Amino acid sequence: MAVVDPLIELRDVNKFYGQLHVLQDINLTIGRGEVVVVIGPSGSGKSTLCRTVNRLESIESGTITIDGQPLPEEGKGLAALRADVGMVFQSFNLFAHKTVLANVSLAQIKVRRRKKDEADRRSRELLERVGLASQADKYPAQLSGGQQQRVAIARALAMDPKVMLFDEPTSALDPEMINEVLEVMQQLARDGMTMVVVTHEMGFARSAANRVVFMADGRCIEDRAPEDFFNHPESDRAKDFLSKIL
Ligand code: ADP
Ligand code: MG
Repeated sequence: MAVVDPLIELRDVNKFYGQLHVLQDINLTIGRGEVVVVIGPSGSGKSTLCRTVNRLESIESGTITIDGQPLPEEGKGLAALRADVGMVFQSFNLFAHKTVLANVSLAQIKVRRRKKDEADRRSRELLERVGLASQADKYPAQLSGGQQQRVAIARALAMDPKVMLFDEPTSALDPEMINEVLEVMQQLARDGMTMVVVTHEMGFARSAANRVVFMADGRCIEDRAPEDFFNHPESDRAKDFLSKIL
């Protein structure tokens, strides 16, 4: 689909794990402020796609640019890139021995070089935004899974990223905690954050996404508005997938 103001562009991206051609000729543009939901069967390359965008994984061919800049290979540029690309995973990976506040402040101090006071102030603002202002002095184990994931979102936002990547952020949560995380994500989307979201939450895709990208076997097979995709999937792979999950 045509994108007005591209923030992320993948051109002819190919990636292999040994013999496995895990990303095949991926061409994908994410516009500034867009919310793109990526769905597809397990093993189709969704996580790998996310991990190539913040250069946790290298690619064999093609180009990836963020805000007009090609992804750096290594060094300082790479740290800056990672700070610009917020990432939230299925497992929240908070530091168990640090308070919620310290978890959100840490990378601000180390990577963004903020003073502790300034970082803590920003952390409190963000904890407020994700509905956890009162939990700042607790430790991760004292929080529910949904609360921990909201801390992880606040931590990623604290770097002032240009884009947020979410890789199945609610898949590890008990059902009653899924909505509190999705609501935070909905609000972020309404506030204009550029987001790439791998999820099986089709309600979120329908209500928050500008586009749905359907992946299968390492390829982006469909890239369409959510109502088109859900009501009229074109490919047999997408029809088959939707018939299993809806
Ligand atoms: P998805 O997130 O859509 O389930 P992944 O991107 O995790 O898919 O994986 C795509 C394919 O790549 C799968 O076949 C998976 O087994 C394989 N794969 C993922 N990570 C690695 C790795 N580090 N080494 C080798 N194969 C991998
Ligand atoms: Mg995955």
